[in-house]
Amino acid sequence: MKDWKTQTWFGHDVDAGTHRNTELEITESYSGRNITIPIRVIRGVEPGPTVFVTGALHGDELNGTGAIRSLLANPEWGPVRGNVLAVPVLNILGFERHSRYLPDRRDLNRCFPGNASGSMATRMAKVIFDAIVLQSDYGIDLHTAAVRRTNYPNVRCDFKNQACKRLATAFGAGVVLDGRGPKGAFRREATAAGCPTIVVEGGEVWKVEPSVLECMTRGVVNVLKELDMMDGEPELPEHQVMLRQTKWVRAERGGFMDMHVSPGSTVVAGQPLATNSSLVHEEHNRLEAPFDGIVIGMSTLPAVQPGEPVIHLGKLSSPRRAKFVEKHTQADDMQRTTQEHLSTNIQVTEPMD
Ligand SMILES: [Zn+2]
Repeated sequence: MKDWKTQTWFGHDVDAGTHRNTELEITESYSGRNITIPIRVIRGVEPGPTVFVTGALHGDELNGTGAIRSLLANPEWGPVRGNVLAVPVLNILGFERHSRYLPDRRDLNRCFPGNASGSMATRMAKVIFDAIVLQSDYGIDLHTAAVRRTNYPNVRCDFKNQACKRLATAFGAGVVLDGRGPKGAFRREATAAGCPTIVVEGGEVWKVEPSVLECMTRGVVNVLKELDMMDGEPELPEHQVMLRQTKWVRAERGGFMDMHVSPGSTVVAGQPLATNSSLVHEEHNRLEAPFDGIVIGMSTLPAVQPGEPVIHLGKLSSPRRAKFVEKHTQADDMQRTTQEHLSTNIQVTEPMD
């Protein structure tokens, strides 16, 4: 560990028990100016781990940015033990254009751990990886669903990695998904490099949604408590669902979808999820749940073509289990409120006989 009293972060000395707003140079613009990402380094009085918290790795996914900014709005906020590196916008070039991608159309979240002599994207990834990930002990990466979709807040991590699973459970979103992520993804490569990292997905692009923000800020604080960086116990839902298998239920026909479920709904196998009909309301077909499950994501755009994803379902083991999960989701204030908020964006109707 670096000497605790004074540490150098991104070229500045930061004393224990203080914070400093700083910047990391990641590339240069066409006009040769430095392009930097803003970072707040928050240092605890006492030694402890270093945790990075990042938002907008996809430049249009702003719920995490909103959550981090809301924590930073209180200048007193931070760990008692250890360091927090708060990065509200990781993909600053995408963010400047309200875009998921970099200007060269690459997905920064497939370019890690990066390459110092590679493409613009992999060079940027390399700078970020070396300066942030390799200096941290743990990571939390905040995302939303992709454009035209929404996600019921869920944490994703590799269940085989005990440290990741511990963070994911401590975050307390209520739904945890197994998987290490695709090759080149930030959290996968960070975890592989010895910095266990979880990813959190919640809500939509281009928004800061109050209930998602609430879930994310509580989750970050929960993880810091779990790591003994802050005092107190994590505030957790009574029960959390661990999902190992998920499936996108896709449209079979072109048409307009009437939705019968909303984010966070639990369903049993065969239950109608959405009805696809023509614009003048001639029914085409009905999408049904292929298994007992919970809706972790869905399309917000009701017009579909064949093959387009409509409902993202996490698999539960039985109808009894679905009932149990529903009961506990409804019993947790935050999960119930989130479900209510997210469903106000979607017209949900009863299926017609
Ligand atoms: Zn994302």
